[in-house]
Amino acid sequence: MTAPRENVPPPTAIVTGATSGIGDATARALYEAGYNVLLTGRSLPTGEALAADLGPRARFVAADLTSSDSAQHIVRAAYAFGGGLDVLVNNAGIDHTGDLLTTPMETVRAVFETNTFASLAMLQAAGALMKKLGGGSIINITSRLASIGVPSMSIYAASKGAVLALTRSAAVELAPHNIRVNAIAPGMTRTPLFEAWTAEQDDPAEAAQRAAAGIPLGRVAEARDVAGAVVYLASDAAAYLTGISLPVDGGYTAT
Ligand code: NAP
Repeated sequence: MTAPRENVPPPTAIVTGATSGIGDATARALYEAGYNVLLTGRSLPTGEALAADLGPRARFVAADLTSSDSAQHIVRAAYAFGGGLDVLVNNAGIDHTGDLLTTPMETVRAVFETNTFASLAMLQAAGALMKKLGGGSIINITSRLASIGVPSMSIYAASKGAVLALTRSAAVELAPHNIRVNAIAPGMTRTPLFEAWTAEQDDPAEAAQRAAAGIPLGRVAEARDVAGAVVYLASDAAAYLTGISLPVDGGYTAT
């Protein structure tokens, strides 16, 4: 954990998709670990309520990451607020379930706009500032589906697989600038996204039970399980880790 030190200004972190689920839990965990946190998402009331709940080291900036100038705007806001930029958590994402062969390209592009291109734009904007400042840590939230195949999840999986490939190459390219780039690959995690997925199934209760039954630890993740991994990868304890994908999936991908 990065503990606050006397007379040293708090490190600054950006969390995208902070208005829900894993992003909300991550914002709370980083705040607790002593960071200034710049929160972002589209929902202004939810984001402002979270920032107020956290306290003076939290600030919310509403932005749609699919807009071309959002990444620069968010990074500038984080620097103005925190006086530095140490950590970027690329967490915002949307789900997509559907038949691979008939999904319209318009839908495919929309999934990639949020899950892939927005993460890439944030990495570029934050990475450029971190390079000037002497280093930083970028954490991309991908998915177990970046590495395994599941029917009806191909479009989403491809959008996350691209971010996994980006993570590895960016880690190598940015290492000389002391910028670490890692991924976290959550398994099924109890968030509004997960609840929406179970609600779509023929028998939601049975689907939730089936999801848990396939996991060696016997339960789906809670958002705080993923948040804990983010705090670790952001911290000095992980100073020699770059280019990795850390599964937070209860052992699912070990089977
Ligand atoms: P969630 O509860 O649905 O939250 C998604 C977040 O992304 C929200 O804060 C949303 O904010 C933000 N977002 C979506 N589109 C956006 C856009 N265009 N611009 C700005 N913000 C946007 O999802 P979650 O379950 O916490 O998932 C978080 C991440 O983990 C995602 O990348 C997801 O793919 C990944 N993941 C989740 C699971 C799971 O089972 N839950 C498993 C593996 C990976 P607004 O609505 O305010 O815009």
